[in-house]
Amino acid sequence: MPGRVNCCRRICIPLVVAVFSASLVAETPSKQESESKSSRRPIVVSEDAKRIHDAGILIDGHNDLPWQLRKLARRKTGPVDLREHQESLQTDIPRLKKGGLDAQFWVVYIPASTPQDGAAMRGALEQFEVIEQMIDRYPDIFERAISSDDIIRIHKSGKIASMIGVEGGHMIENSLETLRTFYDRGARYMGLTHSDTLDWADSATDDAKSDGLSEFGKSVVLEMNRLGMLVDLAHVSHEAMRDALNTTKAPLIFSHSSAYAIAPHMRNVPDDVLRMVKKNNGVTMVNFYSGYVDPQGARIVSQMFEIERDLKVKFPNEDDFKAAWTKWKDEHPIPDGTVHTLVDHIDHIVKVAGIDHVGIGSDYDGVGQLPKQLEDVSCFPYITQELLNRGYNETDIHKIMGGNLLRVFKDVERVAAEMKSGKSDSK
Ligand SMILES: [Zn+2]
Repeated sequence: MPGRVNCCRRICIPLVVAVFSASLVAETPSKQESESKSSRRPIVVSEDAKRIHDAGILIDGHNDLPWQLRKLARRKTGPVDLREHQESLQTDIPRLKKGGLDAQFWVVYIPASTPQDGAAMRGALEQFEVIEQMIDRYPDIFERAISSDDIIRIHKSGKIASMIGVEGGHMIENSLETLRTFYDRGARYMGLTHSDTLDWADSATDDAKSDGLSEFGKSVVLEMNRLGMLVDLAHVSHEAMRDALNTTKAPLIFSHSSAYAIAPHMRNVPDDVLRMVKKNNGVTMVNFYSGYVDPQGARIVSQMFEIERDLKVKFPNEDDFKAAWTKWKDEHPIPDGTVHTLVDHIDHIVKVAGIDHVGIGSDYDGVGQLPKQLEDVSCFPYITQELLNRGYNETDIHKIMGGNLLRVFKDVERVAAEMKSGKSDSK
């Protein structure tokens, strides 16, 4: 989910996969040529890229299909058959197969505005159930994974290893007990915040309360370390990122965040934090949302919260507000970007933090606008091709596609085992 951005909270607009000229052939441009905007032509996936793509383990850090399934169920549109192409979604089984996805963190998401009087936690538990039911409904396609070994084993069996990530600490309602309940239910990461600042952690898209993390916020990080749950810094403020990195005993992740230096939105990761993630041995998994990867898009999206708030004050009548808000958005279209734009972020993170600290965190079915050739879950091979075009070798590509996340997951499990046995005081 992109956060406090109304344009992306709406139902995903069916995105039409661009059709490109069949006469285009795969090619390997020089570095300079690939960096030139004029050479940013549509990509054709070569046999070599397909082979490399299939030989690795592709792990995506963030997919919001469970939230879309909840919304569809509430509209009583009947059961969604994921074996069929689903025009209103960015994810279904035929496209997952085409995209070569091997492992997915499916996201437990409930809006940050949900009252923390039991409702947020209850909503979260309902979303665990949505994910469990989805996995159970397609046992030949999905299998539940709660460990790094599970991912490897399930991948070998040809199924999609299905992990659960929780998007936002508001759902634990200030309770470590609830955090432990989520872990027991199978959650293997939790984002500290979503769009709103909490009592104990500041969001990237809200006012600061703790200048990062409060003492309780730090205790949440340490409890997640002890449990063996990946701490996810997507959506938190830059200060909260630094506080968490200075607190944790295990590597951290950004499950769906891109590079601030390329696209200046506060949801993205600044260079000093990318360097901290390198030192921490963690991984930044790039988000595909156009408003976070396209530089101009990020500038527009950065203003949206403030503009929306101002318009709400100016137009107290809901219909007047909606008309003014729609007009502003129509006048400020967000450029889509392309797969080249996304790979710019990967390139930048590799340059600043190194090849071992970047991964994939699509945000499919959580966002309404995506770069060209990244419109749905079938598109992952275009990234592999573009990485090849830019000179990455097979080993590097496999690290980006999932190897780095797998390493982090194993480290997190190791640190948890050490903490539980009282052996670890290392950072
Ligand atoms: Zn999100």
